[in-house]
Amino acid sequence: MSTEQNISPVEKAPTFAEFGFAEPILRAILEQGYTQPTPIQAQAMPHVMQGRDVMGAAQTGTGKTAAFVLPILQNILPLASNSASPARHPIRALVLTPTRELADQVADNAFKYAKYTDIRTAVVFGGVDMSAQTTLLRSGIELLIATPGRLLDHITQKTANLSQVQILILDEADRMLDMGFLPDLQRIISLIPAQRQTLLFSATFSPEIKKLAQSYLRDPVTIEVARQNAAADTVQQVIHMVPSEQKKDAVVKVLNARIQKGLSRQAIVFTNSRIGCSKLASALERSGIKAGAIHGDKSQIERMQILEAFKNGTMDVLVATDVAARGLDIADMPCVINHELPFNAEDYVHRIGRTGRAGARGDAIALVDPSEERLLADIEKLMNRQLIRMPVPDPAGGVAADPFFYMPYVAQDPNQPAKTAASDEVAKTNPASQPSIKPAAKPVAALLGGFKKKP
Ligand code: AMP
Repeated sequence: MSTEQNISPVEKAPTFAEFGFAEPILRAILEQGYTQPTPIQAQAMPHVMQGRDVMGAAQTGTGKTAAFVLPILQNILPLASNSASPARHPIRALVLTPTRELADQVADNAFKYAKYTDIRTAVVFGGVDMSAQTTLLRSGIELLIATPGRLLDHITQKTANLSQVQILILDEADRMLDMGFLPDLQRIISLIPAQRQTLLFSATFSPEIKKLAQSYLRDPVTIEVARQNAAADTVQQVIHMVPSEQKKDAVVKVLNARIQKGLSRQAIVFTNSRIGCSKLASALERSGIKAGAIHGDKSQIERMQILEAFKNGTMDVLVATDVAARGLDIADMPCVINHELPFNAEDYVHRIGRTGRAGARGDAIALVDPSEERLLADIEKLMNRQLIRMPVPDPAGGVAADPFFYMPYVAQDPNQPAKTAASDEVAKTNPASQPSIKPAAKPVAALLGGFKKKP
């Protein structure tokens, strides 16, 4: 089973009520409409409630936030107070996240889950004015969600005191290490009592993550709901070999072909650099596509506005860098386009994991120029499958020129009727008849007279 399918609730797991959550927490859970815990919740919650350290392999989209926030609320609930005195509201649980977006998202959930309790929750991250955060922290907060840099600013200003933290959560720890936060983490952890509960969540258990866990976790329970390096089986992956100077046009063609085919207009397009991200979004806008860029140089307000426009459908294409996109909870993303391949093959798996969630069909399209063939080989090795190469669709040329209309994903069985656009439509509405994404025995691109691999 793949990570993204693990949002599906577990049939035989105990209900939330059977976990023994207090009434105010249970009420909030019911209000969210959660009827059954997801696999990560079913596995992690009992251990977290017992005060055990937990090392969990799970990505955004699996329900991992509730898997740690709900039991933390339960554990600190006996200490909650309705006193107005800040001294009665020390920081008891601290969640550290790599990005502002993830911090914001975790906090959004935490507010909802804690709303019927006296537990005060707040989020602090960089890119926005510190003064409102300072006022909040001074008033007393029990559950704090923070990015490392901004938290250290508050610690320096003496507006955050970690001496009473009992529970520490490192969310997306792998990304925090990738982003060079290790020294910040070390400093922050040195300010938290050693007698504490520590939870670490990471998409993968790399050697660096294991080392981090060895340093800071005590006899952790390991929970892995995700098969490592797997992509959801519902994601159809396609490679278009395109010289780099034609990539922007190729993105436009792919998007227009999807619209022509009646598929959703929405897509997330990944780029490797901030500059490339902004340039591509502007170029798409000039081509009449409603696009916005989200990357680390954007102010927090801008990022939130773009994300909101994308979520409410007034923007069709979100062009993003990995860091900015990490942790974004965008439901049902129908299409992911890699404008460039990421330098790290595992990031490719994360990127395409944004589509094909919860059993929905998704398309993952990568534009690859000859200089990226080594990266493509790394990805194919990691995924243990050869990805299919197809020519870029040509919506202007009509159906006949558009391989998306008749492209078989597997070599055609000579005993079966030829695959047509119509049969593709049937396949779309009937997931059981979805073609496998295994490559054809013969290079299909060659059959189509499209791109041929360099000799
Ligand atoms: P996360 O992986 O924490 O980002 O959660 C992904 C999405 O799943 C969020 O929108 C949650 O509100 C939702 N979610 C979390 N737990 C459950 C559950 N038990 N049942 C249904 N949806 C859930």
